[in-house]
Amino acid sequence: MLSDIEIAQKANLAPIEQIAQKLGLFQEDVEPYGKYKAKVSLPESTSNDMGKLILVTSINPTPAGEGKTTVSIGLADGLNQIHKKAVLALREPSLGPVMGLKGGATGGGYSQVLPMEDINLHFTGDIHAITAANNALSALIDNHIHQGNELEIDPQQIIWKRSLDINDRALRHTVVGLGNKAQGVPHEEGFDISVASEIMAILCLANDLADLKTRLAKIVIGYTYQNKPVTVHDLQVEGALALLLKEAIKPNLVQTMEQTPAFIHGGPFANIAHGCNSVAATKTALQLGDYTVTEAGFGADLGAEKFLDIKVPSLDKAPDAIVMVATIRALKMHGGLTTEQLANEDLSALKKGFANLKKHINNMQNYGLPVVVAINEFALDQENELLYLQELCQEISVTAVLSSAWENGGPGATELASTVVSTIEKNEANYKRLYQNQLPLEDKIKEVAQKIYGASDVVFEKKAKKQLKDFKTFGWDLLPICIAKTQYSLSDDASLLGVPQNFTLNVKEIQPKMGAGFLVVLTGNILTMPGLPKRPAALDMDVDDSGRVSGLF
Ligand code: ADP
Ligand code: MG
Repeated sequence: MLSDIEIAQKANLAPIEQIAQKLGLFQEDVEPYGKYKAKVSLPESTSNDMGKLILVTSINPTPAGEGKTTVSIGLADGLNQIHKKAVLALREPSLGPVMGLKGGATGGGYSQVLPMEDINLHFTGDIHAITAANNALSALIDNHIHQGNELEIDPQQIIWKRSLDINDRALRHTVVGLGNKAQGVPHEEGFDISVASEIMAILCLANDLADLKTRLAKIVIGYTYQNKPVTVHDLQVEGALALLLKEAIKPNLVQTMEQTPAFIHGGPFANIAHGCNSVAATKTALQLGDYTVTEAGFGADLGAEKFLDIKVPSLDKAPDAIVMVATIRALKMHGGLTTEQLANEDLSALKKGFANLKKHINNMQNYGLPVVVAINEFALDQENELLYLQELCQEISVTAVLSSAWENGGPGATELASTVVSTIEKNEANYKRLYQNQLPLEDKIKEVAQKIYGASDVVFEKKAKKQLKDFKTFGWDLLPICIAKTQYSLSDDASLLGVPQNFTLNVKEIQPKMGAGFLVVLTGNILTMPGLPKRPAALDMDVDDSGRVSGLF
């Protein structure tokens, strides 16, 4: 069995100009970054001519693995196999998880985007640019305070944190400005992983440079001694920050192993941010292809909800179909099995775990969108289990199709591709948002908690209660909400798999992300700077004397 990187290194890549040509891009709109990557110009802001949009999402993730990215890539290749002009629009991986636990985010097996080494490492430098802009803002805030603090920023109420794209738990809580007067004003500080920076969310929601700058200007960095919000605009540095991001905002073009064009751009977290690739890249893909395949992070309760309630309004286009990824293994874990028990056929665990899939399907149908289930086949899946899962889906009138794209590439996903195409042709999507922004903030949170998660009620802790009031005073309560919750459960308790009943959602805190244009609602302990595991993936990585990479999964 070859590893992902060994498979990737055997692939036959086309020069990136050829991929751009296939898309019908003009030469002047393509800036090659080496042989196999390019930046492309931002999409036209007004275009009615958009292709169909397919959103790939999944059940709640389990340690058994789901494979949304792998299925997305397979589906795009499968669409090309059946002669549809398909384009991918995916997130770019963060170095933190790459060196840590998760591994790459470029698919797996025979469904990968290439060059996988570059995409998983520094790629075209977008995330570095975001880190630079994020930390430039921190330095400018500290310098403002040091130079006399005209705005009367309270150093104890700075909410803007520094960032780094490496999992480094030692930086979660720190102090800056130590030393004598010349070293600045001491205050507590913390680092977030770069992909959790509000600047990443902004870059992913901005339609163009002007929009980017307007959003950057609105970032709230903290409060004055009189508890008034202070923005980037008050500091007059939105121009400098936009300047640092002027290349990063352009979508990146690469290709799959089967030379299907793929835009890989932007990678915000799916808990404290909205978890999908950039509006600019998705729009470009929609304008160039007949079918755009895109992915939302984590399960459908987090990623897809945010895609539908936060990204779609900026994108001005809703999905035409939802592809819900499930695996037999993961469903059996939702049905109560442990990882050790997964190898055995167990139809009753499968049936029990199916409840999780069914809940996510219903949620998506409530948005007015047609759903196709993609069963991502694993080597140990039993024939009986695959058939049984298809039956269970049939009972609720949803088609479930097997995908063996991991093992077979595009040819393993042609049935999935044609099912998605016919579903789109037969069912008109009738997207309606879950809530209106004008609803009171508490009600918006309740709406998501009750309708999507199945919570019986929402409990606001003391700090959150005060914030509900303050945010109303500041006029921030009319924004959409971005709930930060564990990805492993529909509830805010990671240990409750399947479909938890009779639980409340506990809101601890609400954070203003005025530039991104949403309020982050924190439930449970959400880490914005991950740590490395006991055995980091980095231990297996190497590069030989000729520059050949190994161990990158
Ligand atoms: P997600 O996007 O849901 O996080 P990925 O597509 O990135 O999931 O897959 C996670 C991991 O599982 C990757 O290492 C991938 O290679 C592996 N994987 C995905 N599908 C399969 C499969 N059918 N068989 C074996 N491994 C798979
Ligand atoms: Mg993924």
